[in-house]
Amino acid sequence: MYEDDEGFLYPVVDKEKCIDCGLCEIVCPCQNDSKKKRTNFLDIYAIKNKNEKIRMQSSSGGVFTLLAEEVIKKGGVVFGACFSDDWEVKHHYTESIEGLAAFRGSKYVQSYIGTSYQKVESFLKQGRIVMFTGTPCQVAALKRYLRREYDNLLTVDFICHGVPSPKIWRIYLNKAVTDYCDTQSSLTSSCKKCLQSVEFRSKIKSWKNYRYRMVFSKITKNGKEIMFAYSSLFSENVYMRMFLSGLILRPSCYECPSKAGKSGSDITIGDFWGVENVVPQFDDDKGISLLLMNNSRFMPLLSEVHSRFESLKLPVDIICKYNKSFLFSAKEPLERNRFFLLLYKGDDFFSFGQLVWKKNGKVNLISKVNRFCIWLKKLVS
Ligand SMILES: Cc1cc2nc3c(=O)[nH]c(=O)nc-3n(C[C@H](O)[C@H](O)[C@H](O)COP(=O)(O)OP(=O)(O)OC[C@H]3O[C@@H](n4cnc5c(N)ncnc54)[C@H](O)[C@@H]3O)c2cc1C
Repeated sequence: MYEDDEGFLYPVVDKEKCIDCGLCEIVCPCQNDSKKKRTNFLDIYAIKNKNEKIRMQSSSGGVFTLLAEEVIKKGGVVFGACFSDDWEVKHHYTESIEGLAAFRGSKYVQSYIGTSYQKVESFLKQGRIVMFTGTPCQVAALKRYLRREYDNLLTVDFICHGVPSPKIWRIYLNKAVTDYCDTQSSLTSSCKKCLQSVEFRSKIKSWKNYRYRMVFSKITKNGKEIMFAYSSLFSENVYMRMFLSGLILRPSCYECPSKAGKSGSDITIGDFWGVENVVPQFDDDKGISLLLMNNSRFMPLLSEVHSRFESLKLPVDIICKYNKSFLFSAKEPLERNRFFLLLYKGDDFFSFGQLVWKKNGKVNLISKVNRFCIWLKKLVS
């Protein structure tokens, strides 16, 4: 797998070893998008994990941890995405409940899958229960890799906006760490090692108005260790703007062949956006998950953990009304080519990225409304 100029990995065929069997093209979902979109689920639930600490660490209602803990208790293995030591996002597995913490929280970067599919197969063949979590395309890829069904495999994907380039993440993080640490003048030289945590979806103040947050620890010139944080509203952070406007997504995300129930996952999870309109009494702005049961295979598992969550059964149309990412791929912004050209030329692509959000994103509308209110106030006074 080789990283292209945009920072995404693609397979390169070694022509010396290739026997021209064509299998890679047969299993490629982008070249064989045969399945139809599906909106017939067995059931849809709104779910809140009763463990407040876990829910606050999770991106929505903490449903991933509920399912994963049960799998671990049964002696199973859970695969998910976590940060590596150098803050890249990678797929990994855990066999312990403590190990699940690293998977909690959405990381808005395409995760490096490495040899995870081979490891999943090996655990399945040993008879272990395996829960594999990932993007719809990762679940679809695992299924195509395995080429047969396993009773002991639980696949959980999520409603997916798309995955950003690991290269853009790397550049952003280096810049953010340097810029931010340098403003702390009492500290010794800046470095990525002092970074303690990154949260793309900090709910410290609100789930709906979530924040991007980084926590650092540093040794001052006097030898004391101090902790400090950078935090900003998602709409004010350049990386989040570039992600949400669709600017830095993998090209295949603009025509995703795996979403809308096409990944073949057993369960799909996501954020219950719009909960305040549908069931306001259930909304405490700390995060509610959506859980879509795509088949009945793991119904008993959900029943077993019933005492550990609050839930409501929902009508099916909720999903298409408030979470368009379930059905539709992100739109490719017209400015995408220009953005990557600036990147290759070494120009200031971040400033350009900010503007695309202003043009495409919600902020535009909000700022228009604000401006209108200010204008109205002036007129009245
Ligand atoms: C790139 C991305 C885009 C998303 N887009 C949407 C969307 O448009 N609408 C929506 O409703 N929900 C979206 N989600 C899912 C949502 O953010 C929550 O993950 C989901 O609601 C589950 O919440 P939780 O509280 O149970 O999960 P958490 O405890 O936060 O669960 C995290 C789960 O996500 C997995 N994960 C985290 N980062 C990655 C990654 N980079 N690649 C693969 N797996 C990862 C972990 O392995 C774990 O299984 C997206 C998630 C990601 C990572």
